[in-house]
Amino acid sequence: DHLLAGKTALVTGAGSGIGRASALKLARAGANVCLLDLIDERTEDVEKEIRGMGREAEFYDVNVSDPVRMERAIRAAAERFGRLDVVFANAGINGTLAPIEDLTPESWDETLGINLRGTFLTVKYAVPHMKGKGGSIVVTSSINGNRKFSGFGMAAYSSSKAAQVAFTKMAALELARYRIRVNAICPGGIETNIGDSTKSTKELDKIRIPVKYPEGSQPLEHGPGKPEQVADLVLFLASDRSNHITGTEVYIDGAETLL
Ligand code: NAD
Repeated sequence: DHLLAGKTALVTGAGSGIGRASALKLARAGANVCLLDLIDERTEDVEKEIRGMGREAEFYDVNVSDPVRMERAIRAAAERFGRLDVVFANAGINGTLAPIEDLTPESWDETLGINLRGTFLTVKYAVPHMKGKGGSIVVTSSINGNRKFSGFGMAAYSSSKAAQVAFTKMAALELARYRIRVNAICPGGIETNIGDSTKSTKELDKIRIPVKYPEGSQPLEHGPGKPEQVADLVLFLASDRSNHITGTEVYIDGAETLL
């Protein structure tokens, strides 16, 4: 069933992991998709795969924390497709993991700049193109910073992820008058490439406390989540099937946070 037939979706961080799986899922549901990511051949592969399905796709090479490039890319995308219905503000990094004493202001700004400011800029520049027609915005937050606080050295990451939920709620309130819904998703551990770009300092090892999970404590025994499972939630929140859901956060963690 083509829940998004004729609609246009914009996905940030579309070249990998949750963004990639969601871009493909939204296209399979009928949407044309604008793919935003840093320059990367992986995003070009997603573009090709979507075109192979008979949908339109366009890759915009842009850093989500750059306001000038973001305004330009989102305007170009909305003009290219003539409309913008779904926005998935998903690009994010773990950044540099370090104890607070060793975390540099530059690392703090990098993490908050991509995860939080990037979300703000995505929404800010998308809204003018969604007004009047309504639509759905989905923000990728995390269990970390909301229900779970176990990742050592993740003060910047967790702060950005908690603030994304606050931003989502304020945006939902403000944008309801345009019939734009805004929701956050909070994934637990998902098998993606996010670890590849994660840095950590030597000092971090000194504060790590070994975590021992009790035997059989994985409530769902199939292990960490898959990007495709998150993409199903993104599709639901993007589509009119969820048209009474706004201003909330949805956990997708296999009950990891109940352990
Ligand atoms: P990933 O690294 O596989 O994909 C992230 C994508 O975002 C990459 O293609 C990367 O190039 C892009 N990106 C990074 N910085 C960017 C920037 N400045 N501008 C544009 N694009 C940028 O990781 P993922 O796990 O799919 O992460 C997606 C989101 O999910 C992130 O917000 C992350 O915090 C969140 N998340 C992930 C997990 C997990 O376990 N993987 C859990 C909770 C939340």
